[in-house]
Amino acid sequence: MAALEHDLILVGGGLASSLIAWRLALDRPDLRVAVVERDGRLGGEHTWSFFDGDIPARDRAWLEPATPHRWPDGYEVFFPGLSRVLQTPYNSLTSDRLHATVAPLLGDRLVKGRAVEVRPDGVTLSDGRVLGAAGVIDARGPAPTPHLDLGWQLFVGRTVRLTQPHGLTRPTIMDATVGQGDAYRFVYLLPFDERTVLVEDTYYVDGPMLDRALLNRRIDAYICSRGWSVEAVVGEEEGVLPIALDGDIDAFWAEGPPVARAGLAGALFHPTTGYSLPDAVAVARLVAEADDLSSAALRTLIEGYSKSLWARRAHYRLLDRMLFRAAEPRERWKVLRRFYGLPEPLVRRFYAGASTALDKVRILAGKPPVPVGRALRQLRESGRGKAE
Ligand SMILES: Cc1cc2nc3c(=O)[nH]c(=O)nc-3n(C[C@H](O)[C@H](O)[C@H](O)COP(=O)(O)OP(=O)(O)OC[C@H]3O[C@@H](n4cnc5c(N)ncnc54)[C@H](O)[C@@H]3O)c2cc1C
Repeated sequence: MAALEHDLILVGGGLASSLIAWRLALDRPDLRVAVVERDGRLGGEHTWSFFDGDIPARDRAWLEPATPHRWPDGYEVFFPGLSRVLQTPYNSLTSDRLHATVAPLLGDRLVKGRAVEVRPDGVTLSDGRVLGAAGVIDARGPAPTPHLDLGWQLFVGRTVRLTQPHGLTRPTIMDATVGQGDAYRFVYLLPFDERTVLVEDTYYVDGPMLDRALLNRRIDAYICSRGWSVEAVVGEEEGVLPIALDGDIDAFWAEGPPVARAGLAGALFHPTTGYSLPDAVAVARLVAEADDLSSAALRTLIEGYSKSLWARRAHYRLLDRMLFRAAEPRERWKVLRRFYGLPEPLVRRFYAGASTALDKVRILAGKPPVPVGRALRQLRESGRGKAE
């Protein structure tokens, strides 16, 4: 057995682990916390965005050093027949800043290596090294599972510097005036400065196969349709994000090694957006405030939290099933247009995963933009003993 040279090992140095390591370094600097990351760099190449409403003010203040972009004047959405400015400020945290902030706190406890075995008492790396710890959290990102019924949000993003100002003053969270085809499709725009903008082509589909060539052509066409001329491409990213339709959370947690799992590995994401930053912030706080950081106690803590969120979020999964299974693919945008016509506080609570009972009724009430028979089938299925 390995010596317990660490109090806690975080396996995978992505968003979830970095936030736990950061929070512990601030609150409990005496703990010996190690992060094992196969790339040796925290967070990969990512931009993670969030609304002010998604994260409590004290945590937004904590994240500020890693959050170089903030749009205080809110954001816009565009649908056929609906253009709207919503006032909630928007923010982007970047992996460069996250790494620059957290890596110095870890020093040589940021271990470059690929974990091949994760156990409650430590980790074995592919080069044979064995690291021992009293507590282990697995945060290696999403793994295929038969226990979650998922749809997918697929996207390719390109950050471009234009020859002229783009004229945008705030992010566009959804421009769904673009052609739809057989999926719900929209373009997402983040104006980083007056000439630099991220253009992301996104669609919600049944399978996780990303057609990069198609999305790149769509990005070219969108840039052209805006009359923008590109001086340089400064970044590219792509995503295959899970959208939760249904699942068996108990069976999900029963698979894999008997350790705690954080981030997407622990099903800790918003069912409708696939975004995990707000949950990762909450889990970092939870861990930092825990008395017992042994593997068994962490497993109980995070598994319990993940399951309680899963139960509270049944409504979002129902909405996702309406989107994926009841609405005709070409008509899916109407579900979202109707949603964005609702009062802004309701929209804010929706993204924060904090919809009230009345919000839930309002989101699904009224004339549904989906065939009534199929909508009823989804409603009936959601009443078959799944957590609500
Ligand atoms: C391009 C993109 C943009 C996104 N934008 C947003 C956003 O704006 N807002 C938001 O909330 N969410 C966003 N998401 C969704 C989600 O928040 C991210 O996927 C997030 O990074 C998930 O965090 P995580 O810690 O679970 O996994 P990851 O951040 O993917 O971290 C997993 C880490 O584990 C490492 N790893 C894997 N296997 C091993 C191994 N065997 N040994 C060692 N290391 C290993 C990987 O290299 C990786 O660094 C985005 C996702 C993508 C892909």
